[in-house]
Amino acid sequence: MKNAQINLPLLVRIKAGALQRLGLYLARSRLTSAALFYSEGLLPSILDAARQSLRDHGVAPALVCEVKEASLEEAVRLRSEVPSSCKALIGVGGGKALDVAKYTASLAELPYFAAPTSLSNDGFCSPQASLTLEGKRQSLPTGPPEAVVVDLTVCQRAPLPLWHSGVGDLCSKFTAVSDWKLAFYRRGDPVNDMAALISDASVFQFMANPVSNEEGIRLLATALMLNGVAMEIAGSSRPSSGSEHLISHALDMTGARPRLHGLQTGTAAYLVSSLQRGNHHEKIGELFARTGFWHSVRKQPFSKEEWRIAVERAPSVKEDFYTILSESDAWPEFARMIALDPALIGCFE
Ligand SMILES: [Zn+2]
Repeated sequence: MKNAQINLPLLVRIKAGALQRLGLYLARSRLTSAALFYSEGLLPSILDAARQSLRDHGVAPALVCEVKEASLEEAVRLRSEVPSSCKALIGVGGGKALDVAKYTASLAELPYFAAPTSLSNDGFCSPQASLTLEGKRQSLPTGPPEAVVVDLTVCQRAPLPLWHSGVGDLCSKFTAVSDWKLAFYRRGDPVNDMAALISDASVFQFMANPVSNEEGIRLLATALMLNGVAMEIAGSSRPSSGSEHLISHALDMTGARPRLHGLQTGTAAYLVSSLQRGNHHEKIGELFARTGFWHSVRKQPFSKEEWRIAVERAPSVKEDFYTILSESDAWPEFARMIALDPALIGCFE
């Protein structure tokens, strides 16, 4: 239950134009040579801004490479390409590149700088990397990044469904913490109260201004980052991931067309919170209505049949992980909501 030592990011910059100062942040820490990993399809102007910033502050590009797949094999291959002169590793882009960069940095024992260009999930500051090993997705421990650099101007230009995905992933903290507490009451699983509090509070903090303007993006970035911190404090993913994530993982494994992570976890959180019988269901519903979350879901509706299979499978996705789904067959309640809840009209087919 106790963590002898926790690691937290030392440098956090969440502001407009932060990417143009990336080189300065490295230079200040005397990190004069860095490898830069970026997402496939990253806008050239974003990559140029990062590279120019390194040049401006005398940080040598030890290696610049595009990350094509989020696998452990790719991280190990890239680790072998990082020269011994390299002093830091930077990840710029979306989840895939950031997960590979974070894991490669931990293999190479180098300080890692995370520079997300969208806020579609809470992985950019979490102490683990989500990678596949022989095609099977795993969460591998890495420790959190040394620095988090969120450029609000860049994130504001990201497509709206990515922002909605971040909102969905954030709301799943409500259901994750409820599941964690349920596991305590039913089986005595230890709960770290501070981690649970931070996780819950991060959602309320975002609710103060849930819009996709610069201030709203700043709040979402901060809230998602605090979820990563909560995981590090707890020494597990419990504060950020519960039954809603089990359903999303099952969808990734069995669905024909997995959707954005946070659209899956957010929708699952909305459904699961109804089973949990607290007041979170109403709060998540309000937040999704205010942010237009369901519009992004309706653009590419989920398959009801795929969800039925995923919900059935979800309790066995993670070994020894007690959630509300461990208690009863959830699907009849979910099917009833999908058929009758006006918010869900057009979200499933
Ligand atoms: Zn998540």
